Amino acid sequence: MPSLTFYGGINEIGGNKILLEQQKSRIFLDFGQSFSLLDDYFVPEGFLSPRERFGLKDYFEFGLMPKLAGLYNKEALTATDLPHKNEPSFDAVLITHAHNDHVAHLKYLHPGIPVYMGEATKKILESTAETTRQSFWREESDIRTFRTGQKLSIGEFEVEPVHVDHSVPGAYGFIIETKEGSIAYSGDLRAHGHRPDLTEDFVQRAVASEPKALIMEGTRVALNEMRKNHTEPFVQEESQKVAHDTKGLVMAMRYPKDLDRFRTFYSVAKETGRTLVISLKTAHLLQTLRSDEKLGLPDPFSDKHIKVYERKLRNYPAWQKPLLEKCVDASFVHEHQKDLIFELDFYYFGELVDVQPAGGACIHSMSEPFEEDPMSQVGDEVLKNWLAHYNLAHHQLHASGHASRQEIMQMIGSVNPRQVFPVHTHAPELFKEGGKPTALLKKNEKCAI
Ligand SMILES: [Zn+2]
Repeated sequence: MPSLTFYGGINEIGGNKILLEQQKSRIFLDFGQSFSLLDDYFVPEGFLSPRERFGLKDYFEFGLMPKLAGLYNKEALTATDLPHKNEPSFDAVLITHAHNDHVAHLKYLHPGIPVYMGEATKKILESTAETTRQSFWREESDIRTFRTGQKLSIGEFEVEPVHVDHSVPGAYGFIIETKEGSIAYSGDLRAHGHRPDLTEDFVQRAVASEPKALIMEGTRVALNEMRKNHTEPFVQEESQKVAHDTKGLVMAMRYPKDLDRFRTFYSVAKETGRTLVISLKTAHLLQTLRSDEKLGLPDPFSDKHIKVYERKLRNYPAWQKPLLEKCVDASFVHEHQKDLIFELDFYYFGELVDVQPAGGACIHSMSEPFEEDPMSQVGDEVLKNWLAHYNLAHHQLHASGHASRQEIMQMIGSVNPRQVFPVHTHAPELFKEGGKPTALLKKNEKCAI
């Protein structure tokens, strides 16, 4: 009989690490970092972090990673009391999408364990690794890619990745055939983005597989009354009004990997005759993903509606150097401010001192009530003070990357699994509303399915 053990993603948003076993076959679904549990003992943004030089020692101390033999690489275990094994004890790790709460712990994995991810996910992580200080895997890691609908035979299991719509390109759910029925795993998904058809494809594949188990994300299941379920087209419409009605600079803030929101602002820029000014990191990401024709992304350096912004640095990292001559700087943004939509991360608000906006608007297009990016915990007060200083009107416009409660219940109803396993949520008991037997899971506890 197959079994599931949830080593993360239980009573927390993110940190998904789900072990599926049958006889000798063992695969992990996602291998992400837990934010909330990490926050119990550490403080983000470098104030107090696990000591990376000791690999997993500090993680094991607080139960932040499963202490399993044959799962990790030698370096990760050197300072711990878990012995390293030459042969891995797991068949594969399958990744749904490129968010840290699903991928960030891959770097600790045993190099003998193949890691499967979508083509776009690999490119996004490669671009992120090159343009930030983060690295996701090691040189010797065995990274393999898949596309939607491709079947992967892994031990006792046959896995079919099916695309879903989320706030990062190339997100997938999985349909996993076991010898005793199938399991559907949603990853993170929504039905109110630019591509609800992708999520619908996943739901239909899940329906057809008549699953024994549906592992379903529930990030927003408890938020029904508190927040409106804005759609991506709504954000576009409202942003367009702001860009149209604003006389001066329009600033825009979004999550760096959210290219759906990039598309939204790109369309708004086109529609309102403004030019979208993006960061070098975004330009690098667009260039990396442009080879994937299905994504249909513009070339940031030749598209007439886009300019790329150069932050003045004392020393430029190697990846930026060949791109600099094609960039604009703060004086360009200052001179053309009424004709621009200027994307700027909170980290880089210092640029405003050089740009000197003479009034305008800021579209704050982020902030989920939890986080896939610790920066959203940044004090609203500081943001508001900066905007007031430059006379920029604050507009909160965001569509979540996650399904609403209503969308979740509809998906459970359509898929009609024998049992629902809620993950990535603080309120698993609310899943009972879907009318199906619902497993209230405990972390690290094995359950037969
Ligand atoms: Zn996600």
